[in-house]
Amino acid sequence: MVNTPYDLKRPKELEEYILQVAADKSYLIFDKKALTIICTRCGAKRVWDQVYDSQLKHNMEHYCVDCGETVTCKEKRYGRKKLTERGRVLWMVAEEEKTYAQLDLYEIDYTGDEPKVWFVSDKQYLFTKAEQKRFDYVAIYGGGQYWAEVKSITLPRATGSMFSSYWDKTILYMPSLKQIGTDLKYADTTGWTDAYSIIEYFANFTKYQSIELLEKAGFRNIVEEKCAGRGCRHINWRGKSLEKILKMSKGQIKEFRPHECMETLERYHEARRYGINVKFSQTGYLSWRWQEYLQTVCMYMTAEKAFEYLDKQKVGTLGIYADYLKECRQLGWDMKNRRILRPKDLAEAHFISSQQVEDNKNELIQKNFVAGLTEIYDKGEFHLNGLMIRPAENVWELDKESEKLRHCVRTYKEKVAKGKCAILFVRMEADPDTPYYTLELSPEGKIVQCRGLLNCAMTDEVKEFVDTWLKKIVQQKQKGAA
Ligand SMILES: [Zn+2]
Repeated sequence: MVNTPYDLKRPKELEEYILQVAADKSYLIFDKKALTIICTRCGAKRVWDQVYDSQLKHNMEHYCVDCGETVTCKEKRYGRKKLTERGRVLWMVAEEEKTYAQLDLYEIDYTGDEPKVWFVSDKQYLFTKAEQKRFDYVAIYGGGQYWAEVKSITLPRATGSMFSSYWDKTILYMPSLKQIGTDLKYADTTGWTDAYSIIEYFANFTKYQSIELLEKAGFRNIVEEKCAGRGCRHINWRGKSLEKILKMSKGQIKEFRPHECMETLERYHEARRYGINVKFSQTGYLSWRWQEYLQTVCMYMTAEKAFEYLDKQKVGTLGIYADYLKECRQLGWDMKNRRILRPKDLAEAHFISSQQVEDNKNELIQKNFVAGLTEIYDKGEFHLNGLMIRPAENVWELDKESEKLRHCVRTYKEKVAKGKCAILFVRMEADPDTPYYTLELSPEGKIVQCRGLLNCAMTDEVKEFVDTWLKKIVQQKQKGAA
């Protein structure tokens, strides 16, 4: 084993910590001859018949009477060759201003009389305000290993080796969070519970004074994002004051604080680049496709006026507002009227305007709807065995049919108007006004589909009825016409 770059003393309690906290599996190893039982989780030793019944069997699930953990029983005389478990553990030690961290690979070995933990040093870190360092223990291709300094001060995930999955588990030795050098005295380690983010946090905190300043001023989200590896070109991490770091005035900083995160900051600056005087509290309006929406809205008012109006709405996105204004224009409404431009309740007004647009569209389609159906209308209604069939008379009937039967015939309006299909309703004679089955007929007089509630298929009775109607009425008349 090559010497590590720093001579750090592994905490004495680390082995116990791994067994108690990190281990995924726990065993109760019992010896029928010596009448002893050992729990690998808590290390308790017991004489068998004191507390355990005589029914313990190899591989059975039980619980430890000392720590209460669920454990797998293992009889000592059987081989336990495969009873190992691997992972990685990060721990820290301090020396004046310096904070060292070491990552060890560990393997828990349950094959002996008592569980044993083996360690191999894998990485070392040093954090001071003057320098941040990382060393990796690397294998040389063809044999041999050495320690190499690595520029990027992060903790990489355990990948890159065919055996890596053994070491996937990476834990932080929590007691060593108290082992922090004076350069990290003001670091707030609460809330960082995993090895990866604590390395990022220490690296950033010692490297940039801005982390401490931001944290103290309540910009914890930004600190967390930075430590998660996210960058932001609107932040000067080397700044020596909040104003320099955030590139803002004191007033702006105060306004920004309750909304602080990188996304808000980015949207804010982007809007400003477009010449929009947006407030931090309003950056939520600038979501997906906002430039497009704003273009519509700004035909009638400034962006600032629009945001101010949306601030007063209970439900209001820029997208809904743009959609509403577009519909108003389409409907020929007076766009100079303030009650139309800025309705009291946008959600309600939008509901009405889109309803009106839909109605107008329906009326337009309706004009051609009947024309497309003339051939079917000639055939009239058909009755047989308690069932009847008739063509749909208008677009609104399709809406009603869709609503009642919960299928999508309402989307067939234009197809009907273009003469590409005909829609007919199958109903029970006794209840002629209630939707039952809906039939789509091709211009050639073939059934495309016939569906009932929630798109269900025809019953035998309906199928027989429809087939008879097709033979007797549709095909007969077509022959007659030919
Ligand atoms: Zn136990």
